[in-house]
Amino acid sequence: MKISVDMNVCQNYGQCVFAAPEVFDLDDAGGLVYRPTVDDTARGEVEAAAMACPVQAITIEG
Ligand code: SF4
Repeated sequence: MKISVDMNVCQNYGQCVFAAPEVFDLDDAGGLVYRPTVDDTARGEVEAAAMACPVQAITIEG
């Protein structure tokens, strides 16, 4: 499955990092970094992250 985050919308709140720490992270400067392609076993976590995002910046494809 593929993940995309609209970085024009993302406010670096980090809720997705708490929901799916193996997929999303905040770098040393506090900016969001993420893995754009993840194994399907992470689907539940990623869906939880997408729902947790307060600005709906996360899109899941596939
Ligand atoms: S929860 Fe949403 S706004 Fe916050 S860092 Fe993740 S993608 Fe960005």
